[in-house]
Amino acid sequence: MQKYKKLAGYSTNRLSFVRLIPTFSVDSVKVLSTVGEVQNLVSNARTAGKIVGLVPTMGALHDGHLTLVHRATEACDLTVVSIFVNPTQFNEAQDFNAYPRTVDQDVRLLEDTGCQVVFHPPHQEVYPKPDQTTYAFGALETRYEGAHRPGHFSGVGMVVKRLFEIVQPHKAFFGLKDYQQVLVIRSLVHQFNLGVEVVAVPTVREPDGLAMSSRNLLLGEEERREAAEIYRVLVAVKAKSRNLTPTDLIDYATAQIDAQKHLSVEYFGIADPDTLAPIEDLQSADHAIALTAVRAGQVRLIDNLQLF
Ligand code: AMP
Repeated sequence: MQKYKKLAGYSTNRLSFVRLIPTFSVDSVKVLSTVGEVQNLVSNARTAGKIVGLVPTMGALHDGHLTLVHRATEACDLTVVSIFVNPTQFNEAQDFNAYPRTVDQDVRLLEDTGCQVVFHPPHQEVYPKPDQTTYAFGALETRYEGAHRPGHFSGVGMVVKRLFEIVQPHKAFFGLKDYQQVLVIRSLVHQFNLGVEVVAVPTVREPDGLAMSSRNLLLGEEERREAAEIYRVLVAVKAKSRNLTPTDLIDYATAQIDAQKHLSVEYFGIADPDTLAPIEDLQSADHAIALTAVRAGQVRLIDNLQLF
């Protein structure tokens, strides 16, 4: 990242130097690493009456992330994309260490989106001192992702609240691929009165239906091919959702996914989309969502689909 900052400096003063490195063009995107720099820029924008948008990410950007960024640039005058692999939301050290980090490529991808700022802070800028706040999200923490990743949503709450404090956006953009996370962020905003509008963006998928995810980069060839079964099964569950009981749907989905050599269901649930309370009787429900986490080899994938 230092590399980018140095080159950005050179690009104004030493054009001949830049010509040797034709792939770099940082004119449109500023890469900032300190809280002071971001706050300076954002406070100038806010004073000028501009709408500020934030897209929090952990990098390894794909079209799912870029769709969020496009939504942000359409709705906001200044769009900040943060790239920070947040250790407090990982409940497995191995998962944190293996998480893909491709910042130089991420910055290049963002150059075509209209986003003006990439905030890529080191750890101590985000967490200069230990955060003693308690982050509690009630039943959201005990169900599905909350139950299977102890401490995960507390870590998500911690980093998002901190990013909101630093960037002070009017709007923040999150993907519905992480459905439970969107509910957690809405709860966070409400509990701490953060005054940020949370915009939820539909899941972007690969041509075979697999939800785009940075973790897809870690899949082996066969795992990747089999992973498409997750969405196929979600679609089939949606089609059957008025005819079968939740238990039968869950059994069907689990058997279909587990039949793949490299896939193993961690959970498959059918729940109320607002509370995530499991649904017992689909006939009397107004809305329902199916949510799943699946291990593909060592890689953990999540997905969901609104049933009705
Ligand atoms: P991550 O970098 O995985 O923390 O994701 C950053 C943001 O991008 C989160 O709000 C995710 O929900 C969102 N996101 C990730 N994958 C997708 C996708 N396939 N479609 C839409 N949004 C996504």
